Amino acid sequence: MTMASTPGSAGEESTESATDRTTSESALETARRQLHHAAEHLDIDPNVVERLRHPKTVHEVTVPVERDDGTVEVFTGYRAHHDSVRGPYKGGLRYHPEVTRDECVGLGMWMTWKCAVMDLPFGGAKGGVAVDPKALSAEERERLTRRFAQELRDVIGPNRDIPAPDMGTDPQTMAWLMDAYSMQEGETIPGVVTGKPPVVGGSEGREEAPGRSVAIITREVCEYYDRPLEETTVAVQGYGSVGANAARLLDDWGGTVVAISDVNGAMYDPEGIDTASVPSHDEEPEAVTTYADTVISNDELLTLDVDVLVPAALGNVITEQNADAIAAEFVVEGANGPTTSAADSILAERDIVVIPDIIANAGGVTVSYFEWLQDINRRAWSLERVHDELETEMQAAWRAVRTEFERRDVTWRDAAYIVALSRIAEAHETRGLWP
Ligand code: GLU
Repeated sequence: MTMASTPGSAGEESTESATDRTTSESALETARRQLHHAAEHLDIDPNVVERLRHPKTVHEVTVPVERDDGTVEVFTGYRAHHDSVRGPYKGGLRYHPEVTRDECVGLGMWMTWKCAVMDLPFGGAKGGVAVDPKALSAEERERLTRRFAQELRDVIGPNRDIPAPDMGTDPQTMAWLMDAYSMQEGETIPGVVTGKPPVVGGSEGREEAPGRSVAIITREVCEYYDRPLEETTVAVQGYGSVGANAARLLDDWGGTVVAISDVNGAMYDPEGIDTASVPSHDEEPEAVTTYADTVISNDELLTLDVDVLVPAALGNVITEQNADAIAAEFVVEGANGPTTSAADSILAERDIVVIPDIIANAGGVTVSYFEWLQDINRRAWSLERVHDELETEMQAAWRAVRTEFERRDVTWRDAAYIVALSRIAEAHETRGLWP
């Protein structure tokens, strides 16, 4: 089992290290700016926007863990519940030293929009523990996870809040969480978390789903702008579950992947990389550069003259500092929050098409929804069915976003937010404010 340990905000397990964090804005700041920007285009009740600026609750817990040497170390964990107007809270748990309350709130807001843009019956949440998982043994990670599950026991549940993997956590982490929760409840409750191994109620295709949705959306964007995939070059930052799966699918579908990277740097080959022959982070951690003839830095990868850039590792990698140097025509966000709001404006002025995270990497939570349905119905789906239904859901979300993009002449990010916000606002207005 491998554990990624990196700052920032990836759509799933990430493989990158931080670059310059001093200029970055917090996930919460970015999420709030994006909310206001999109709300300007919509005739929604300002009171609803005001409510959506804030989380419903943020649970902060203390997680004492016995280290292998017998000493006890105390960690802080969070679970931010943002909004549940459309259904139970949903979102990942990350293990990372820089996890904070505000980061969880910002990332939880993105989950609310992501579930709404995909029209899933879920709200948004995010949580995590401020810990470096690489510094723990597997046994310590298990004890941490079981104790964290116990601390969150009253606030999670299959109809209440359903966690999933995120940076630094993986299917095994979810299996421990499910087991700890089930043992305390006295019955096996697989639907309390998603992203589990299939043998304990996980879904086929869940691990590769965020990367698959990035590839599907990249294919749709290329088609929309009349660019055959066979003539498209792609650079992918991050070779974890999002980046590697996206790169391999795009390679299979005829695209030319010229650069891939991990924490140590990027492999570059203008002729095209055989992505299947380079192990992903899960297969062999941080090994990309050892397979490369030409190594460039992660910063250089971001500014390569390619058609499509897929930042699939960290948050805040496209900033005011490098937005002018981005040479790609299309940016498809595999990570959560890879573009700061200042950078977003620069890219928009430069007519660079940015497809936002809340649709591009939404395959993860969409297959999480399929997993939850399978758990509740006690009936597993085939991989083929998962692929077919994911394709259908991605197409439907893409059509909805494309309609707003064309109708309102806004950016793709604003179009996706408009779809999400309209659905959330309508639900809030229909339910009303209690009491
Ligand atoms: N952590 C993933 C995300 O950011 C998946 C969340 C989920 O499946 O609930 O979208």
